[in-house]
Amino acid sequence: MRATPKKLLCPCGTTIRADTDAELVRRVQAHARAAHDQQLTPEEILARAELAPA
Ligand SMILES: [Zn+2]
Repeated sequence: MRATPKKLLCPCGTTIRADTDAELVRRVQAHARAAHDQQLTPEEILARAELAPA
């Protein structure tokens, strides 16, 4: 099964893209922790993610 690339626009203006849900969650969690001292759940991240076709 082929994953659909996704992106998430953080309120700070940073756009995070990834090829899979798991990668997106990992990247967004790392950004949220480093830039905002926030802990986001995978559910929160995926609920806010948009499709990002190549
Ligand atoms: Zn941010």
